[in-house]
Amino acid sequence: MIENDGIPCFNWMILQTGQLPLRPDGRLVQTAEHRCTAVLIWPHGAHPAAANTILIDPCFTSTGIEEAYARLDRLDIALDDIGRIFVTHLHADHMLHLPYDVPAPRFRPLRPDTRIDGIELVLCPGHHPLLLALTFRAVDGRAIWVVGDAVLDEEWLRAWHYFWVNGYTPAEIVETWRSVAAIVSRADLIIPGHGAPITVDAELVGHLLETFPQAAFADHCPDVIPTLRARWLQLSEQVDPGE
Ligand SMILES: [Zn+2]
Ligand SMILES: [Zn+2]
Repeated sequence: MIENDGIPCFNWMILQTGQLPLRPDGRLVQTAEHRCTAVLIWPHGAHPAAANTILIDPCFTSTGIEEAYARLDRLDIALDDIGRIFVTHLHADHMLHLPYDVPAPRFRPLRPDTRIDGIELVLCPGHHPLLLALTFRAVDGRAIWVVGDAVLDEEWLRAWHYFWVNGYTPAEIVETWRSVAAIVSRADLIIPGHGAPITVDAELVGHLLETFPQAAFADHCPDVIPTLRARWLQLSEQVDPGE
């Protein structure tokens, strides 16, 4: 599917691959650094430029910015050609930050009340009460959800585990699971806060469905299971048995 019923679609590119040293089992991966996923999007069919680009979670480390420069080179644009920035949630590891030797670019913030055809901002509370996912359609028709820390990475998602060090209340944990279910029920591809893109398919949703009862406070949000089951059924039907 190339056309999206007249809904504008977008190109996207990860400028900085997210990493998180802390694993859900408590291990620390020494080779990983704490850095968020930074994603650039621009309308399909247009050359990326200050007038049409949005950079999501522009918090760069010294090594991350080098990765970003290399990818911007491939697009034949500079950091300064990026127009707007959008921050999924007000945590220091997602807000605008550039290494000290990078000249300050002229980014403008994308305000949450700005309407852009084809882009929907969806409130995904839990990890942060005002966390907004930025969602759009890709050229291939897939619904792409850039969700910040509503999902940390695939391993954390599959473990139904969370950054307990944030000192969550039970109500916040329940909100987190509801947000995960809402994201999974609508996204075809999740771009998480600290990891590689996650494809939402029948296998992933089946796993989440099976393991959710072991999540903390799962009994406080029985609505998560039917939401996941509906998505699992939908994705199972999409699998062509001849394939
Ligand atoms: Zn966060
Ligand atoms: Zn984060």
